[in-house]
Amino acid sequence: MSSVKVAVRVRPFNNRERSRECKCIIQMSGNTTAITNPKADPNTKDAQKSFNFDYSYWSHEEADPAFSSQIVVYKDIGEEMLQHSFDGYNVCIFAYGQTGAGKSYTMMGKQEDGQEGIIPQICKDLFNKIRNNSSPDIKYSVEVSYMEIYCERVRDLLNPKNKGNLRVREHPLLGPYVEDLSKLAVMSYQDIHDLIDEGNKARTVAATNMNETSSRLDETTQLCTEKVSKISLVDLAGSERADSTGAKGTRLKEGANINKSLTTLGKVISALAEIASKSKKSKKADFIPYRDSVLTWLLRENLGGNSKTAMIAAISPADINYDETLSTLRYADRAK
Ligand code: ADP
Repeated sequence: MSSVKVAVRVRPFNNRERSRECKCIIQMSGNTTAITNPKADPNTKDAQKSFNFDYSYWSHEEADPAFSSQIVVYKDIGEEMLQHSFDGYNVCIFAYGQTGAGKSYTMMGKQEDGQEGIIPQICKDLFNKIRNNSSPDIKYSVEVSYMEIYCERVRDLLNPKNKGNLRVREHPLLGPYVEDLSKLAVMSYQDIHDLIDEGNKARTVAATNMNETSSRLDETTQLCTEKVSKISLVDLAGSERADSTGAKGTRLKEGANINKSLTTLGKVISALAEIASKSKKSKKADFIPYRDSVLTWLLRENLGGNSKTAMIAAISPADINYDETLSTLRYADRAK
């Protein structure tokens, strides 16, 4: 049975929001996140909406005792997912949200101490765990792939010479995979770090008026004597709608394609959440639209079946982003 953990994280104001003297419209208490409509009459019923998630991370003011650091987020989500992978599950962690809301900060973070995101922390911890669990009977091997899905095309970031659109095929037992995608054996966190650096240089640098728009997938496959599990760490494109970026022509089409991955991912996750919440008696075969986008098709084995998924919805605290933030919270709410 698949299950999705959903977290929301609100970042500090950025310079633009500070210079425009924006108001903070997000409140958190326990695992509840509430958003206030800055235009609504505060006395009306609809002025505030509340959502419950597995975790609500207040990363708005560092001085606040409730502040959730990179370490807290990793301990809650990264550690649990890593343990699941050692238990034989495929796992998938991704961050969703508007450009500038904190997806890369949450997934990759910054190099400085204590600011590394989930990806470096999980990769380091993976090797610590291997060191602690190894014995003469158990051997581990770790392989890494790094790809970019851009406009429904797949590129191998570890073999940028392979410029073409890689084919996505389906293995009868192992499910969908990318033909000819590099899978490199790594021995340490440093090896992965070097590969990520190398892969980043090969990324598509195409930006809409507002943002960078590509989805990346880091995959770490862990093999051991009896189990093979895949960890997919996904840096998604910004969730803003194509029509709000002022994009036209090719860029608009790109936006629509990128949104196709994001909307399909939303549909897949909410279909899975619905199945998980249904009683076991319900025998109706549910349709999950994995095939509607390359991203969801490739993640099929990491989202459904023998898998565990965590999604972190990154949001801005500012009143000027009310519409996007509310739509991110709704997207996250459907995943529960
Ligand atoms: P995205 O990947 O969603 O486009 P980023 O992760 O690049 O957004 O975040 C935008 C900016 O906000 C970056 O400068 C980042 O360092 C900062 N930021 C985001 N989230 C946090 C946070 N929780 N704490 C501190 N700074 C953050």
